[in-house]
Amino acid sequence: MHSIVSDALSRVLSGEALSREDALRLWDAPAEELFDAARTITRRLAPRAFNFCSIVNAKSGRCTEDCRWCAQSRHFATDAPEYPLIDEKTALEAARRTEAAGIPRFSFVTSGRKLSPREVRDLAKLVRAVRRETSVEVCVSAGLLKEEELRLLRDAGVVRYHCNLEASPDYFPKVCTSHTTKDKIETLLAARRAGLDLCSGGIIGMGETPADRIDLALTLRDLGLPSVPINLLAPIPGTPLESTLLLSEEDFLRTVAVFRFLLPQAHLRFAGGRARLSEETVRKALEIGITSAIAGDLLTTVGSSVEEDKKRVREAGYELDDDLAFDRAHLWHPYTGTIDPTPVLKVAKTEGCEIVLADGRRLLDGTCSWWCALHGYGREELKRAMHEQIETMSHVMFGGLTHEPAVKLGRLILKHAPAGLEKIFYADSGSVAVEVAMKAAVQYQMALGRTTRTNFATPRQGYHGDTWNAMSVCDPVSGMHTAFGDALPGRFFAPAPVSRFDGDWNPEDEAALRALFEAHADRIAAFILEPIVQGASAMWFYHPEYLRAARRLCDEFGILLIFDEIATGFGRTGRYYASEWAGISPDLMTIGKGLTGGMLTLSAVLTTNDVADTISRAAPHALMHGPTFMANPLACAAGIASLELLEKTDWQADVARVEAALKRGLEPLRGKAGVVDVRVLGALGVVELERAPDRSVTKAFVDAGVWARPFGRIAYLIPPFVMTDEELERLTAGFRAGLRAHGIDA
Ligand SMILES: *Cc1c(COP(=O)(O)O)cnc(C)c1O
Repeated sequence: MHSIVSDALSRVLSGEALSREDALRLWDAPAEELFDAARTITRRLAPRAFNFCSIVNAKSGRCTEDCRWCAQSRHFATDAPEYPLIDEKTALEAARRTEAAGIPRFSFVTSGRKLSPREVRDLAKLVRAVRRETSVEVCVSAGLLKEEELRLLRDAGVVRYHCNLEASPDYFPKVCTSHTTKDKIETLLAARRAGLDLCSGGIIGMGETPADRIDLALTLRDLGLPSVPINLLAPIPGTPLESTLLLSEEDFLRTVAVFRFLLPQAHLRFAGGRARLSEETVRKALEIGITSAIAGDLLTTVGSSVEEDKKRVREAGYELDDDLAFDRAHLWHPYTGTIDPTPVLKVAKTEGCEIVLADGRRLLDGTCSWWCALHGYGREELKRAMHEQIETMSHVMFGGLTHEPAVKLGRLILKHAPAGLEKIFYADSGSVAVEVAMKAAVQYQMALGRTTRTNFATPRQGYHGDTWNAMSVCDPVSGMHTAFGDALPGRFFAPAPVSRFDGDWNPEDEAALRALFEAHADRIAAFILEPIVQGASAMWFYHPEYLRAARRLCDEFGILLIFDEIATGFGRTGRYYASEWAGISPDLMTIGKGLTGGMLTLSAVLTTNDVADTISRAAPHALMHGPTFMANPLACAAGIASLELLEKTDWQADVARVEAALKRGLEPLRGKAGVVDVRVLGALGVVELERAPDRSVTKAFVDAGVWARPFGRIAYLIPPFVMTDEELERLTAGFRAGLRAHGIDA
């Protein structure tokens, strides 16, 4: 069927922005058709998690402004309460009530044109108190503040500033003459410059036309508002609008629907006045566009109670997840802050090559959960091995004791280890393995009496983990060394190798390393690097000759060579270990990540008899490390099952198949505007972008049914080896669709 509505719907779904004329035509469309289409947009494009906030009227009445709808204006005789800025006790009570009700967001709303500088400072104190005592996210609505004042609030912990435009720029002067739309927009832009999120909407039913409402929505769209409160005028006795005719419920729903077409991704927020809508209309509004609400007390009109609200939202079919609210308030996720954390998705289970979200959506996994889940998720062989192990022994200390799982896993590891690596030291995570390898290198040099060789060299662009010393050999820029002042030991950084894996060898790479060693060898215990693939910092694939050069130079200068195979081990690059591309062995090697097929954390350091025995000959005759959970039997059982599974399957063929699919799926991006490079090696595909994508790209991946996590300018796919061709096709197609949200013609 071709109608105005279905045409507008498909354009919105394909990312097009509708014009004013489109919206005017939509307004007159048959109601049910319009609502159905708005429901589709809401399901497909709008935020899925329902979002509640609450507000406290933090200063009331005596307002100098003449907003004709408002009970707080001193120009009108209403019975609105009058009080100055609330005190800390009152603020904390309100915030605690909010938190106890499971509402994640809390806003201070004050009357008046703007707070005075002094009141802003007092409000900042209230905000600090609330952030100290609770974990609610704090918003403020305090009038036409200046950028410095907004910064003060931001620094106190405010995340979002609210300032309603109230009406279209044309209509606003008819309902308020004491300030202008321009004043409001200036405030919103100042808040954005101050680093705050924005929230702005309006009041409908003040006598404006549908065209006015559309203009309000378009003005909000131009401002890129993520949160748009929609108030329904509640005519208040004593105000000039006291006898305004009530808006029909259908008009209200049409407004919500048309706003949804114009602001497909925004939170449309139920705000004031909704208490007088029928149950039926509230339910419908929730379906066709409303994805958030102010719960509880609403300024001077009484809103509905929180529990009733939650019940309605659930009845409307929304997943209202208190777990997500708790998570956001209390659980700190990696590489994000606590003030405005990157949103997280709730996972219900993992299955095959898919991550299944709590809301039922299924995402094809392009991350292997950070390189780990080589065989996909939930493999029977791994589960069975762990079940069996847990029945006999989940853990026992490794000091003075040993067990079959540790021995059996050791045998499997040595089977594929580079020649000469004979000793295995188990540890609990990748970073800890790196720490252990670095400690071993220093102990080795000390044992030989080379007491100045306590430092390390490493190429730039590396990644070796997040503990202290592991972090010190990460790339100083992407590893954010500046955040740690002089707490991190300084390392010797060689330039990152420039010779591409698939390009010509550039002897400059060796010369640069030689120069570094010549200048500093007497202080260097070891040279540590990720063989072939510089992973989590750059996703750069370099020439195998660099590893051979490193081996030659380390031998020449008495420096130990450490290969960090934590990411590359177990087949990822098409070889069991990436060092096989160069055909040489290191003195120490770290493994982790895929070792247990992603079932549990476990890592190990492999080394030569020379290194191990040299350390052991000198006092204290031991490698000075001993993790509590060393060689954890349950983790070892998972490791055994994973490595046996690898042996049983033709993983080389699988990796080659994944490689071919990644090439098919990603090569078309080469040369596109915004794409710097496309690299595929084994089961690892990388698209280097000109500029770093933002959160919207992650969201676009999810919308396309794909789980991928770009970092910096790097978008990449690390699929499980067992992903089928059909799944790989969908994965790369979804990946390209996500990159389209970043403006790549993919
Ligand atoms: C992930 C990673 C580490 C750190 O491992 P964790 O288990 O996260 O501590 C170290 N080195 C490399 C190369 C890695 O990719």
